[in-house]
Amino acid sequence: MTDGLAGRAERRQHIAEQAGNSSGRVFQAIGSSIEVANVTKRYGPFCAADDISLTIQPGEFITLLGPSGSGKTTLLNLIAGFQKLDSGEILVDGKPIHHVPTHRRGFGMVFQSYALFPNMTVSQNVGFPLRMAGMDRETTERRVAETLEIMRLSEHALKTPSQMSGGQQQRVAIARAIVMRPKVVLMDEPLSALDRRLRESIQIEIRELHQTIGSTILFVTHDQGEALTMSDRIAVLDAGKIVQVATPVELYRHPETRFVASFVGESNLIEAEIVQKRGSTMTLKNKAGYVFNAESRNAIDVGRATVLVRPERIAISNEPASNTTQATVTSAIFLGEILRIEAKMESGETLLIRCSDIAGRAMPSPGDTIHVSWGAEDCWVLA
Ligand code: ADP
Ligand code: MG
Repeated sequence: MTDGLAGRAERRQHIAEQAGNSSGRVFQAIGSSIEVANVTKRYGPFCAADDISLTIQPGEFITLLGPSGSGKTTLLNLIAGFQKLDSGEILVDGKPIHHVPTHRRGFGMVFQSYALFPNMTVSQNVGFPLRMAGMDRETTERRVAETLEIMRLSEHALKTPSQMSGGQQQRVAIARAIVMRPKVVLMDEPLSALDRRLRESIQIEIRELHQTIGSTILFVTHDQGEALTMSDRIAVLDAGKIVQVATPVELYRHPETRFVASFVGESNLIEAEIVQKRGSTMTLKNKAGYVFNAESRNAIDVGRATVLVRPERIAISNEPASNTTQATVTSAIFLGEILRIEAKMESGETLLIRCSDIAGRAMPSPGDTIHVSWGAEDCWVLA
């Protein structure tokens, strides 16, 4: 079986045709909408979910992203029904679910620990929810075979979990979570026990799985790269609160707070004074008198501000030019396809710069003077 993208698309089409539809959607599950409205959860005096509101669209892939302890699992458990809310409401397809026990919510779930039954085969593990639901044997077998094929596990059907690698076991756990064709799949850091390469390949698989099954997926991770790769939208949590909900591109380019700017991607946060404002473009001056333009939301007023410049958006040159400012290299590392440079500006702030390696350009050394600049569209004024 091929692993390439073309191979995968073919496989999906093949499975879809076998299942009797040509849309590429095997299950044709239309994911549920989820409405989290002013949800609060306290553990004693500690507030783990603090007045959280979040609207999830039917069939959306949404990720809860935040550092450890920010309340991601708490929110997922409230939606799953493992925990009770103190206040607020959760609606699925417009209906309140607080009185519905976990096992009747019909959600598929995947956790960091695979939680497979060790003495059952892969087939038996995946078929378990169907047998519990009293499904007849023929349908069970067909569904299990279909689901194993989607997860590329068919050849492992008769193995037990101990005969499989961590990545394969997690794919079995995912197969078991989707075998009931759930309208909602909840995943709590399912990839964090796996090594980086495996994690990256399963990220793409889960993303494709989402397109195949059409369920709403609520995915939890503390890894910003994973969130950017996988999600339609990302909800960033900090200390029990949602601080921003946006698409990956919007979150990376236009974070609303310093916390989001620093947590998602690498960032330079430069202190400056807004000296002029024209619509969504501003003119700013940094502490050393360097004047530059930046984009911002309209709500920001003249005064002190923090400006985000991503390391890959900074241009460097050896000679000064009209809009450059000077900086002194403190470190320069050759990483193959890019150079990673740290340089101290005249304001005293250190800039992290990532630029592609250019043939013939000398490697900068510590102590060298470089001239840096960025365009208005390359920097973003934070509130
Ligand atoms: P995350 O999944 O983002 O790492 P959690 O939702 O697990 O965060 O936890 C959020 C906070 O709530 C943490 O500070 C954690 O210690 C606290 N917490 C979670 N569960 C309990 C519990 N059962 N009792 C007391 N405190 C808890
Ligand atoms: Mg957690």
